[in-house]
Amino acid sequence: MPSIAEQAAALQERTVAVRRDLHRHPEIAFEEHRTMGVVARRLRELGLEPRVGVGRTGVVALLDTGRPGPTVLARADIDALPVPEEKQVDYRSTVAGKMHACGHDGHTAVLLSVAEVLVSRRAQLAGRVLFVFQPAEEIVRGARAMLDDGALEGLTVDHVLGLHLSSSEPVGTVSVAEGPVMAATDSFRLLVRGRGGHAAYPHLCVDPIVAAAQLVTALQTLVSRETDPLDRSVVTITSVHAGTAYNIIPEEVELKGTLRTFDAGTRQRLRARLLEVAELTTRSLGCGLAHEWFEGTPAVVNDAAATERFRRVARELLGPENVREMTPIMGGDDMALWLEQAKGCYFFVGTRGGEETAFAHHHPRFDIDEAGLEVAVALFAAGVVDLLQAD
Ligand SMILES: [Zn+2]
Ligand SMILES: [Zn+2]
Repeated sequence: MPSIAEQAAALQERTVAVRRDLHRHPEIAFEEHRTMGVVARRLRELGLEPRVGVGRTGVVALLDTGRPGPTVLARADIDALPVPEEKQVDYRSTVAGKMHACGHDGHTAVLLSVAEVLVSRRAQLAGRVLFVFQPAEEIVRGARAMLDDGALEGLTVDHVLGLHLSSSEPVGTVSVAEGPVMAATDSFRLLVRGRGGHAAYPHLCVDPIVAAAQLVTALQTLVSRETDPLDRSVVTITSVHAGTAYNIIPEEVELKGTLRTFDAGTRQRLRARLLEVAELTTRSLGCGLAHEWFEGTPAVVNDAAATERFRRVARELLGPENVREMTPIMGGDDMALWLEQAKGCYFFVGTRGGEETAFAHHHPRFDIDEAGLEVAVALFAAGVVDLLQAD
């Protein structure tokens, strides 16, 4: 039996071909119909019986070794972004305005190859592996949709494992950390209501623009003065809309923004305080306030023991010097919801090879050094195999 690293190498050509095929045909959140077909066909070729259309455009497949052991959930997200691709490569997007700009084409191809590795080793394994191909990560709704649609029906999951490719880390490395590694993401809309009128007669109006301006400033102290500097969090106002002319005080101002936190308690507290400060600030200036709160995902939290287990596997495969300590990031990912089902680990595999593969995720020139895919397959497969062995 070849080693997992040798198997990943032997599969590399196929992994790259699948990734490029998906890259040419990007599909955004809940539109991943073709992608779902590609995934299901390959899983069937491997002798698995995929369930398609789970959470609209998701796929799950169970590899059951028939021997008692843990159940490991292995997750990949499959959606693209509404970003027009600016790269000139032969595998560039063929769909105007859409692109795999986050590397989820790579995630999908990697997990399919991982499935192939594990199926080929079935006779040596015990327990079960649930492969989860999740849609709509970029709008953080796919995991919820799959869970609500019974993705885990009849299963008790013991471990969860997943990866994200990373253009900020070099090929040949993996970054991981225990605890919260990605932020909880919530967003909100505030409507400051005044009384409009002529700009020359402000005393006859209630100016919502002045109230909104004070509100934006007031919100800056929630993090800077009320939150422990070591408890990373962000309040950002991202959109301000009001008014039509030089000489009119408008009726209302619309503000939009996002709250990012790592700690669940801080998340609740900042939400409450944000709304309270908004209410009091606008009321002190005679305005009314309406709000909408859009609850996003919780923080992505890696279990300490699961992370240590994964580190051991990674050190063995890549050498200790290539297993890096990850710095938590303020971005969110609905991997968080899978990690709420069972303890697990989300790790970041380097795909930066040179200048061309160093663009940030979501950039129109984002690309991956495909050598990183082979590393990802080996790490992911070896991580699952390790978790299938009794603790
Ligand atoms: Zn993304
Ligand atoms: Zn992503």
